[in-house]
Amino acid sequence: MTDETSYGFDTLQIHAGARPDPATGARQTPIYQTTAYVFRDADHAAALFNLQEVGFIYSRLTNPTVAVLQERIATLEGGVGAVCCSSGHAAQIMALFPLMMPGNNVVVSTRLYGGTVTQFTHTIKRFGWNAKFVDFDDLDAVKAACDDQTRAVFCEAIANPGGYITDLDAISAIANEAGVPLIVDNTSATPYLCRPIEHGATLVVHSTTKYLTGNGTVTGGCIVDSGKFDWSASDKFPSLSAPEPAYHGLKFHETFGALAFTFHGIAIGLRDLGMTMNPQAAHYTLMGTETLSLRMDRHVENAMKIAEWLENDPRVDYVTYAGLKSSPYNARVEKICPRGAGGLFTFAVKGGYDACIKLVNALEIFSHVANLGDTRSLIIHSASTTHRQLTEEQQVAAGAAPEVVRVSIGTENADDLIADLDQALAKATA
Ligand SMILES: *Cc1c(COP(=O)(O)O)cnc(C)c1O
Repeated sequence: MTDETSYGFDTLQIHAGARPDPATGARQTPIYQTTAYVFRDADHAAALFNLQEVGFIYSRLTNPTVAVLQERIATLEGGVGAVCCSSGHAAQIMALFPLMMPGNNVVVSTRLYGGTVTQFTHTIKRFGWNAKFVDFDDLDAVKAACDDQTRAVFCEAIANPGGYITDLDAISAIANEAGVPLIVDNTSATPYLCRPIEHGATLVVHSTTKYLTGNGTVTGGCIVDSGKFDWSASDKFPSLSAPEPAYHGLKFHETFGALAFTFHGIAIGLRDLGMTMNPQAAHYTLMGTETLSLRMDRHVENAMKIAEWLENDPRVDYVTYAGLKSSPYNARVEKICPRGAGGLFTFAVKGGYDACIKLVNALEIFSHVANLGDTRSLIIHSASTTHRQLTEEQQVAAGAAPEVVRVSIGTENADDLIADLDQALAKATA
């Protein structure tokens, strides 16, 4: 496409990154199901291996189908480049990997996807990294947590499971002052509802498993780079600013400028960690992105109707949807995600833990699964599943208290979803 910046979101979600296949004219992006690519000659091979020329070597690093998805997500997010990988969790490790050395820490929000809390609490310690959990509504606490070993600040735009909205502008100002990048997990919002880079984020990570694919078929992840961070402004990020021994002393930032993080993600991250997205997964996710805005509008419309209905139901204690006037996060919708507060929220059932379990068992249209962002409506009791590894204190801080269920509102008819909730609440609270 000629000048992508002039096109609207609905156009870009279909066309960005893609062009008719040069070999066959195929209009849809082919699934390049190949492991390796033939070099033109020995000089071409050497240039590719030296990063002097960009091209395809081996599908652990790059693949043409995956490359289309990378360009599409980067465009939708307003970034300069993106690296796709095998899952959202892989994307989080791949985002931190160029930034962190043993002894370094990342300052993270307490309101995160349950698996991320576990990854950051336990697993990253094996790399010598540490996460400092802070309430991101307490800006002084975030500021105080940043120390000279901090290498990144991490939060979700619309935070799982409660649908809480983070004040990204305030958080990015703190990260900026500390001289470290802000990484925003934009999985729940998607670039249609929120564009974190416009609020100061350096990197945006996704679980493409969720809304970007949109139909619960494949796992995947993505890291988008804004291209705006000056990796050479301090000596904090030697992987990007100092000579890289594995590439004859090449300095990524000096050589690739705004694309330094993206090139590092491919040439070091995917090459050595191997958390690669396969072309089939990229294909399914490309299909999903084509209808992203249409689905997100319906997710938001349905979530609003259902949240309002639940809030007025005497069998429900409270509803956390930020789209509701009663939500303490309602004022942030206009600023952070003006097209709506997403499709994800929790509600508390009168009768607590036991009533939640009965509700989940009684629903017919809602599926009881550990996933979100599907066209189907989904429900889960976080405290007994996704947030089970957390202490009760961590569960409450994360918005996954024992008396709440999390819903991911699908794109079905809202009236059918309300009727389903109505009959199940009757059984749960009888
Ligand atoms: C699902 C999810 C992840 C993890 O993604 P996977 O693709 O399951 O590895 C991370 N963050 C958020 C907000 C998620 O919803």
